[in-house]
Amino acid sequence: MAIDDLTEKKDFIREIIDEDIKNNTYQGRIHTRFPPEPNGYLHIGHAKSICLNFGIAKEYGGLCNLRFDDTNPTKEEDEYVHSIIEDVRWLGFDWEDRLFFASDYFQQMYEYAIQLIQAGYAYVDDLSAKEISETRGTITQPGTNSPYRNRSVDENLSLFQKMKEGAFLDGEKVLRAKIDMNHPNLNMRDPVMYRVLHATHHRTKDTWCIYPMYDWAHGLEDSIENITHSICTLEFENHRPLYDWFLDKLQIYHPQQIEFARLNLSYTIMSKRMLLNLVQLHHVNGWDDPRLPTISGMRRRGYSPESIRAFCSRIGVAKVNSTVDFEFLEHCVREHLNQTCPRYMGVLHPLKVIIDNYQEETTEELEAMINPERPEEGTRNIHFTKELYIEKTDFMKDPPKKFFRLTLGREVRLRYAYLLTCTDVIEENDEIVELHGTIDPASKGGYAPDGRKVKSTIHWVSASNAVDAEIRLYDRLFTVKEPTGQKDTDFKEFLNPASLEILQSCKVEPTLKQLKPFERFQFERLGYFCIDPETNKDDLVINRTVNLKDTWAKVQDQGKN
Ligand code: ATP
Ligand code: MG
Repeated sequence: MAIDDLTEKKDFIREIIDEDIKNNTYQGRIHTRFPPEPNGYLHIGHAKSICLNFGIAKEYGGLCNLRFDDTNPTKEEDEYVHSIIEDVRWLGFDWEDRLFFASDYFQQMYEYAIQLIQAGYAYVDDLSAKEISETRGTITQPGTNSPYRNRSVDENLSLFQKMKEGAFLDGEKVLRAKIDMNHPNLNMRDPVMYRVLHATHHRTKDTWCIYPMYDWAHGLEDSIENITHSICTLEFENHRPLYDWFLDKLQIYHPQQIEFARLNLSYTIMSKRMLLNLVQLHHVNGWDDPRLPTISGMRRRGYSPESIRAFCSRIGVAKVNSTVDFEFLEHCVREHLNQTCPRYMGVLHPLKVIIDNYQEETTEELEAMINPERPEEGTRNIHFTKELYIEKTDFMKDPPKKFFRLTLGREVRLRYAYLLTCTDVIEENDEIVELHGTIDPASKGGYAPDGRKVKSTIHWVSASNAVDAEIRLYDRLFTVKEPTGQKDTDFKEFLNPASLEILQSCKVEPTLKQLKPFERFQFERLGYFCIDPETNKDDLVINRTVNLKDTWAKVQDQGKN
């Protein structure tokens, strides 16, 4: 199915919400949350969840919380908290005063655990993690009860308190829910609720040495925040009975968990653990490397928040996992940048052209469109001089039949300037180092009065006006569509060795010097680009966001065959 076909139809989550509104399930309230664990930077998969949760709240006049699910002290850091806040904001969403941390609920969670113990629904177990896993059974075999399962409530209360007070070493004791070791759903076989872990938490520091497990904590967090629809990814479907069990046994407010298919994208990875691996081993230059599918990487690459939101909305929400073509993301990026980016000229591989019939000392101001898609934005001035740079690849000495650009004796259009005929080629050691040519002075603006046609228009910059830039070109990070899907092969084997190409001494219009980091623009004929934050007074550093050629239609056609 073409992705565009999905846009108009309401997805199943919004259908559930419509139904809840009709039945007045939550007195008409809609309250969602985005609950990242601060153990890495956000990626495009998270963007899907962000757009869904914040988007639904906005559409239905509800609220969406930003909540850090920070229950695992060993992997979490403040750096991640800050980056997540920045990324969600940059994507265009606002949680107002509803920024929460699961760690703020640790005391309340502890009290809820005591309630469960008192009701006979939880017990302290002395089995080790290994023994617990060994006695859990399998899908076909029941588990076996722990010898500690029938401890008295008083003993459990006293042991749990000692756990909290630090009387035990890591892993020495756990608190488990007392459900059913024969339950067909393995998640219901007396899951662990708390573990002993003497680790410093990024916020609560050393206050706690017991930490709640995800399944126990998450429903409580939702309940405490009065969430109505707790939207998560499909792998939690099997955990929903446990989510419900805890809330039912505690008899507290009960949100509804709904699962949707996570986003997978071809040619990249979508796991924080693997992203961290690439960052730590320096396969990329930090979390915001423009080759990564992280939000900060995409921002640095020049993707706009509008295009990411459009992408997330157009891929829709489904109940079955699938992989979206990277080309579709790029298609959404191009679509927005085409509408909004000013145009400039820049030459990646400069070749000098000397216009023999042009005055040495003349600098002519010519008019160029800022954005042909938006004529109302007007024009900019560009400088024409005797010496220009054109793209090396726009000239060929012995051109094949279909090459219509510059060659000896042929006339082409210099964009917005004049018709140029190449008259001489200067070579040194078999390398073309300079061209000579003449312009038709009557063709100012690029069109001759006699209306004669040329087959090609090329871009250029004035050699005396252009400034130097370092331009970074990016290709796919991986050479295969599913780098993580190959058994027995580490995903890093599929890293694309040519994913970054750095070009020095590119020649660009001088105005580029005035743009600020992250500003996006188009280099005519070359693609969309943006200013890299490493730019400074002396060095202009530019990233290519995406080239101009849209391959999405082609990918779609292949899919149909
Ligand atoms: P990882 O497993 O890579 O560490 P995670 O999914 O556990 O990542 P969280 O911080 O727990 O990361 O994710 C926050 C929210 O984002 C969760 O609700 C999760 O379901 C959602 N999410 C994460 N990855 C994706 C994805 N690829 N597509 C859609 N939603 C996602
Ligand atoms: Mg998670």
